[in-house]
Parts: sequence; C-alpha cells; structure tokens
Amino acid sequence: MIPFNTPPYTGDEDQFVLDAMRGAKLCGDGPYALKCQKWFEQQLGCPKTLLTPSCTHALELASILLDIEPGDEVIMPSYTFVSTANPFVLRGAKIVFVDIRPDTMNINEGLIESAITKKTKAIVPVHYAGVSCDMDAIMQLADKYNLFVIEDAAQAFYAFYKNTPVGTRGHMAAFSFHETKNITSGGEGGLLVINDERFIHRAEIIREKGTNRSQFFRGMVDKYTWVDVGSSYLPSEIQAAYLYSQLLNVEKIQTKRKDIWNKYHKGLQTLAERNVITLPTIPEECSNNAHMFYLKVSNLDQRSQLLSYLKDCGVLAVFHYVPLHSSMAGKSFGDFVGNDDFTTTESDRLVRLPLYYGMSSDDCKKVIRAVLDFFSQQIT
Ligand SMILES: *Cc1c(COP(=O)(O)O)cnc(C)c1O
Repeated sequence: MIPFNTPPYTGDEDQFVLDAMRGAKLCGDGPYALKCQKWFEQQLGCPKTLLTPSCTHALELASILLDIEPGDEVIMPSYTFVSTANPFVLRGAKIVFVDIRPDTMNINEGLIESAITKKTKAIVPVHYAGVSCDMDAIMQLADKYNLFVIEDAAQAFYAFYKNTPVGTRGHMAAFSFHETKNITSGGEGGLLVINDERFIHRAEIIREKGTNRSQFFRGMVDKYTWVDVGSSYLPSEIQAAYLYSQLLNVEKIQTKRKDIWNKYHKGLQTLAERNVITLPTIPEECSNNAHMFYLKVSNLDQRSQLLSYLKDCGVLAVFHYVPLHSSMAGKSFGDFVGNDDFTTTESDRLVRLPLYYGMSSDDCKKVIRAVLDFFSQQIT
C-alpha cells in the first residue's frame, strides 16, 4: 500500500537528537531551540520567532496576546482545520465563517468586509495547501477597521507571496511542524512568528508560564517572578534538534516535494484539459511550497468511487476538511455569514494524493496511472 504520508526523515536527525540528549540542557530554549529561532528570523526577515509545541499552541499564544474575550468576533474560513478556531473559542470568541474562493480554497478576501461588525477583533486567513491568501487585500481591511491579522500558516512554511515569505504580513503567524507538514520537529511542533514588535515582550512571558524568566536568562532582571497569565509553550531540546537537522536539509526536502508535485500536475493535465477533473490553481503572485497535491472530481459520489478504486490499487488517497460550520462544535461556536457558494460543494469534490519526502518516482507514477485508469473506465 502506498501510504498517504510518512514523516520526513533525511538520516541526519539521529546525530542531532543524540547530541541534544547528551547536552547540558534538555528543556526548552536550549542551544538548538535558539539556533532554530535565529534561522527562522533570518529566513523570514522578521523581528521574533518562538518555537512552540504545536501550531495549535502558537495560535493559542496569539489569541491570549490579543486579549480575545467573550463578545469578540474572529473571522476565518469554514474550510479549515479545527485548530484555526479552537484557540479563539477557548477565550470565548464567536467564530464568523466566510466563504472560500474555489480556485485556491482560501478565504474569499472580497467577502470579508461584509462580515465585519463592531465586535470583530481579528481575521485569521489560512494559506491552504501552502498557497497564500490575498494578504495585501486582507491587510488593507485590517488597517481600515483596526483589526489584527493572525495567519494560520500551518501548511505554508517555505511558500512565498509577492516574493516574500508567507507568514510575514500579518501581525503574527503560526507554522506547524507536525509530521504531516513539509518539515517536522519529530512528530509535533510549531512556531509563532511575531511581525509586530509590540507583542514580543508579552509573548515571551505568556510562553514561560506567565513569568519573566526569559528576561532573567538574558540578565535583564535579577530574579524572575510571576507577572502575567501564561502557560507552558516551549518544546523540548530534542524536538528542536530534530527540527534543526531538517532546516539544514530544507532545500533537499523541498526539491523532492516539488518534483513529485510537478509530476502529478503534468501527469494529470490531460484529464484537466478534458474537464474531467480540476487541478489546483497557483495565482501569479504566489509560489507553491508543494505542501499538498489535490485534485477535484465532479461530486461526492464520484469522490467516494475514486477513493475506493485507489485503495483497491494499493493507493491511500484521502479527502479533507468537513467544513467547520457544519460540525457540531462549529454550529455552537460560530456562524456562517453570507452564502455558502463554494465551501461545501468544493470540499466535497476534493481528493488529496500521497505526497511525502520519502516517496519514490515509481510510486508517484503508480498513483498517476491509477487515477488515469479510474477515469478511463468512467468514460468508456
Ligand atoms: C496542521 C494544521 C494545524 C495544526 O497544526 P499542529 O501543529 O498539529 O497544531 C492548524 N491549521 C492548519 C490549517 C493545519 O493544516
């Protein structure tokens, strides 16, 4: 069976993890954590990044920083993972869902303004499949209505928008290093990117259980104490070491992923030309990080048939999000504002194909062959 995903593993991880295990410091913010953060700050060109145990935690940290409270509204797409919404629901906010664009599956920036009310506090755009939302349009709205923008960039590490890295336009952004993402910190992990310097000081405190321990370690205060609310948002040095080895291999990992993505795109082009399937659109101002390869079929029925056909061929392909507004929790914590023209219908059509660093060219060809075979049977 060709799996849908396996965690990226280059072979360099062992040596880095062993080194961390034998080091003097195993807890958070050890030498590897600081090296990772510095690497990200240079690559992104941003003032501060903080490793977190997950992208979910990075978003929680952001929602505490924004002082989200009951009565606030937060705008996001319904076509996303639960972790986009949960951090804001935990603080009592109401979630306001807005329809997506069918071409990128990202929030439709043209519909956001009509969802803004006096209670709106933040917009959370999700860069689906590593393809950026229209951030210029979104930041313009944020300026006009004095709102915060937190980018859910879980899938968008190493993607670009107008030639700058994704995750650098909003006030903050969150990346994921879960094993299903392009690079991992050993299974679970995340990063909070702080682009607005006003948040740096308090972010360090909240991340360190509400204490000023970070300042203490830098010698800025002579003892540390409890100064604010907080939680424990530091990953261990072992996770940081794993991640650092992957950062040093990022070009190798990305080249491989893009190669597979391009093979799929080329191999399935004939079906797209005959309008049998729809392939992903990458807007001109965006560069894709090959996080995901999806195609869209005609409807839910055909998708079920394709998935089971692929399974019989030894290929594990999967669908994706059930829109949040149609879930039990989504109904109680949120409201869909405007028409659901695309969220439900487009999510019903979507199929994700296997794509991972360790995938062989033969397996990629096998998947393409199986998809082509399915449709040739459908037509004759
Ligand atoms: C993976 C993912 C998350 C959650 O990431 P974790 O690191 O597992 O917490 C959040 N949002 C989106 C869009 C994701 O794809």
